[in-house]
Amino acid sequence: MAAIILDGIKIASEIRAEVTGEVKAMTAAGIRPGLAVVLAGHNPASEIYVRGKVKSCEELGMYSEKHTPPDTVTTEQLLELVNDLNRRDEIDGILVQLPLPAQVDTKKVLMAVDPAKDVDGFHPVNVGFLSTQRPGLVPCTPAGVIEILKRRNIPIAGQEAVVVGRSDIVGKPVAMLLINGNATVTVCHSKTRDLPAVCRRADILVAAIGRAGMITRDYVKPGAAVIDVGMNQVTERAEFERLFAGNAKREESFRTKGSTLVGDVHPEVAQVAGAITPVPGGVGPLTIAMLMANTVKAAKLRRGSRMRELSRT
Ligand code: NAP
Repeated sequence: MAAIILDGIKIASEIRAEVTGEVKAMTAAGIRPGLAVVLAGHNPASEIYVRGKVKSCEELGMYSEKHTPPDTVTTEQLLELVNDLNRRDEIDGILVQLPLPAQVDTKKVLMAVDPAKDVDGFHPVNVGFLSTQRPGLVPCTPAGVIEILKRRNIPIAGQEAVVVGRSDIVGKPVAMLLINGNATVTVCHSKTRDLPAVCRRADILVAAIGRAGMITRDYVKPGAAVIDVGMNQVTERAEFERLFAGNAKREESFRTKGSTLVGDVHPEVAQVAGAITPVPGGVGPLTIAMLMANTVKAAKLRRGSRMRELSRT
């Protein structure tokens, strides 16, 4: 039987509607959540991502501002900017869009972001909060993966979960969230022996690898929930044929654009899985929705007690 398609666009719009309500209530209580985005230099992909983030803030009623230092910006100048944003009370979230220009010490800049405003959840303080189950800011894409499972009633507690990928931004935090949700978690990587056999144990299989269609049906236990985090552009005809032979819709878009977006999971997996996220339209839309949710969470964590006082007066 064909898998249930876990529609990320729909789930993201549910979250956005909830965040809009929270922003309205907070703004009425005198606190409008605010996000500052730092976009250093010119990188066409980053410019598109940042535009989406700023537009989303506007749509949800949040305050936002964009800082665009030039390609020649130095580490010191960026540190000064981040420190200024750290000090400003009306800024709840700071997002430094990566990659930064080559001359900049990226780690130093990211470490300078106040953990209370670190809406990307990458600061070691937030990593520590996540691993010790304290309130903090969780990375957006991993948080989105969990939202998909929870909102579509896919059980986590007691399930076997396998995460392929151990990056700091996706694989490790997804694994930590699944552990916190009481799953039994295995984390795999490029040195894992017999990866297909390990993956076939999974009730929940998360692919965060960065390799187009690597997870074929041999990796998947029938009925498993498969969450595909991968985003890969396929430009080679042979690769396209391996993944989408006979798919007229994809063929049309590949021919006109010269490329097509594919996850880490081969489309054939939809014939064995119980539920699956599509690419595009799966995990991707959740990332911005969770950034918005994180900004509201940051505002509540940092300014919450003041908000309660305001609502009493
Ligand atoms: P990454 O930092 O490159 O990490 C990739 C991980 O996959 C590494 O742990 C690597 O193992 C593992 N890996 C690579 N080849 C493997 C193989 N043949 N077998 C088993 N494991 C293998 O990538 P990332 O930043 O986590 O991103 C992963 C994917 O998610 C990318 O496609 C990225 O574009 C996508 N992504 C999507 C979103 C979204 O919003 N949807 C957000 C972030 C990322 P080693 O550690 O051993 O090298």
